[in-house]
Amino acid sequence: MVRLSATAIPAEAADGDAFLARLREFVGIEATPTRYAQDAVNQPMIRHFVEALGDENPIYVDERAAIATGRDGIVAPPPMLSTWLMVGYKAHKTAASGKAPDSPMARLLGLLADAGFVGVVATDDEHEYVRELRLGDELKMTTVIEDVSARKITGLGPGHFVTTLRTYTDQHDEVVARQRFRILRFDPSKAKRAAEPVSADPGLRHKPFILRDNEFWFSAAAQRRLVIQACSDCGMLRHPPGPICPRCHSYAWHEQEATGRGTVHSYVVSHHPKAPGYDYPLTVLLVDLEEGTRLIADFAGRTEEVEIGMPVQVEWLDYDGELTLPRFRAVTGAPSLEKEDH
Ligand code: ZN
Repeated sequence: MVRLSATAIPAEAADGDAFLARLREFVGIEATPTRYAQDAVNQPMIRHFVEALGDENPIYVDERAAIATGRDGIVAPPPMLSTWLMVGYKAHKTAASGKAPDSPMARLLGLLADAGFVGVVATDDEHEYVRELRLGDELKMTTVIEDVSARKITGLGPGHFVTTLRTYTDQHDEVVARQRFRILRFDPSKAKRAAEPVSADPGLRHKPFILRDNEFWFSAAAQRRLVIQACSDCGMLRHPPGPICPRCHSYAWHEQEATGRGTVHSYVVSHHPKAPGYDYPLTVLLVDLEEGTRLIADFAGRTEEVEIGMPVQVEWLDYDGELTLPRFRAVTGAPSLEKEDH
């Protein structure tokens, strides 16, 4: 067994060990007082939830349909689990004003905040459903601090992961579900600045995954031709390429030449993480092609220039002599489809 003398341990590590020991005193204890659902599992809340999500499974709203599946009656969608225990707007305002009641969780987070770990991001949310919830179930939830990680270096800065285990029980004290929720408390002031600039040389980009089904599209692109796969039986256009027509199930298809004109349906601007081969911020468009299909491609221009509905035109970017891909630039001087200038 090797024993290190105290002086052999760097001072910072020793401090870190002591700090971690203080954090870990919280492991295994109840984070916050048991929470009781304000309302029993009920049809109006379920109805709002499934309508918002567009879930049309009838077992959530139709008694007979639920019974026909072998259930005793209407059940709640499993992902609604945490909604039954939500505290509501007023309690959130109280917490935000700093008047939240003292609890082990509040003290643990306070310790972390005092040490500079003031940033927070949720990283994991695992649910385990023991049984489906039925109308009238009255839930309560206990929350235990399950783990506090050692200090980890992350892209956001150094931090500690805090895992809580929420156990949901019903009116008979039987467990109906468990939820493991993990957050990272990090120190944003120590985040690594972009130390090395990432090269924007397009030749460094990851190559697309070319298969028999999409090979024709990349071959056409290599010739600076934008094509769309067309069903030879019903004429339906489709993109991305696939072996079967989704409308008539025909395997027969041919290429149709696209004009390369379209409008911006939507777009995203990517800042992080920075992959080699791209300029950041990277603006990626979802383009409605004139022919009716959509295509995802880079925007050749500044982010501030992009507007939804804006007309765009294809241009071609040669990556490394082997790969050529389309990107889109704004069509200048053309009237926008959504706005009229007078
Ligand atoms: Zn077809």
